[in-house]
Amino acid sequence: MNHKMVNLCDDSLLIASKMKNFSKWVRDELLKVKAIQEAVLQETLWFRCPACWKSFKEQAGSQVCLNGDCGYSKELELIE
Ligand SMILES: [Zn+2]
Repeated sequence: MNHKMVNLCDDSLLIASKMKNFSKWVRDELLKVKAIQEAVLQETLWFRCPACWKSFKEQAGSQVCLNGDCGYSKELELIE
């Protein structure tokens, strides 16, 4: 195991001191963040924008350019 200092306010210190295993709770919460990030990555496909060739994502049936100056976006046709 590794150590990392955390700063707690009075209220969060009170909550942490009442927890049976604060370190385990912190580890579990951090691993949830990792799991969410991995799930998001799997649902998001990254491409190059056809208009400006910068990073670009395809998600939930639409393509959106992340370059604010470009503004390219396209709704994808659903294939049945
Ligand atoms: Zn673009």
